[in-house]
Amino acid sequence: MLTGAGASADAGIPTFRDEGGLWRTHRAEDLATPQGFAANPDAVWEWYRERRAVAARAQPHPGQRAIALLQRHFFAAEVLVATTNEDDLLDRAGVAKVLHLHGRLAETACAAGCGWSAPDPDDSLSRRPCPACGAPVRPASVWFNEPLPVAEVEALTAFLPDGCLLIGSSCLVAPVSNVPAEMSLSGLPVVQINPDVTPFSQFAAASLRGTAKDILPVLVDHLTSPTVRDQRRRLT
Ligand code: NAD
Repeated sequence: MLTGAGASADAGIPTFRDEGGLWRTHRAEDLATPQGFAANPDAVWEWYRERRAVAARAQPHPGQRAIALLQRHFFAAEVLVATTNEDDLLDRAGVAKVLHLHGRLAETACAAGCGWSAPDPDDSLSRRPCPACGAPVRPASVWFNEPLPVAEVEALTAFLPDGCLLIGSSCLVAPVSNVPAEMSLSGLPVVQINPDVTPFSQFAAASLRGTAKDILPVLVDHLTSPTVRDQRRRLT
């Protein structure tokens, strides 16, 4: 399962590109690149502290809780959940081992790349130099043109799925946006949950048009029903 910003929209966390999305009023170059941070670290930190506060106040919605139920119904190792969302709503919904491909909003890291990073729930670490090397610190997010975290990518590539649910992603930001297309091209069914059409829609095995909050509980109810369980048993 791969989730994008739309998967947290129903919890009140703005997406990036929709109406009301963050990139409609802010410039990604200024706030989500190493160059933007070097030019104005205070502006980046102000934006991140606001986003951290919004995420901390938000609660997982029924669709996110349904993902945790799906994992519990099968084995957690059978339902891998990867996300580009920086918030921790899936973790708080009870989803096991979420792969955070774009980092975590509430973590602070060394801006000089010494390797130090730590959870920073009250923003206190964000106001001091790196405790390991004394350099300035930055949000631990993966910014544009930065590599994805190695451990997460290794876990993702080691997993051999038999299909994928793609939830709330515009499929516009590489390299993660390439994942569903690569799966489709290799013959795996990728089902998209999104109220809107995306560039991936033409390749989707099915497109369920609606919000994560409305569609996921119904879908998980179906996937965990005795009928579907029997069908799965006969196929395996
Ligand atoms: P996006 O804003 O581009 O797209 C959100 C998608 O969610 C849209 O397709 C929309 O139709 C859908 N959606 C909206 N409401 C929904 C709902 N209730 N249920 C289901 N779907 C819904 O976000 P994205 O696809 O996650 O793109 C990856 C993002 O990662 C990029 O926008 C990029 O800017 C961001 N990024 C951010 C940073 C950073 O530091 N902040 C760093 C790297 C990447």
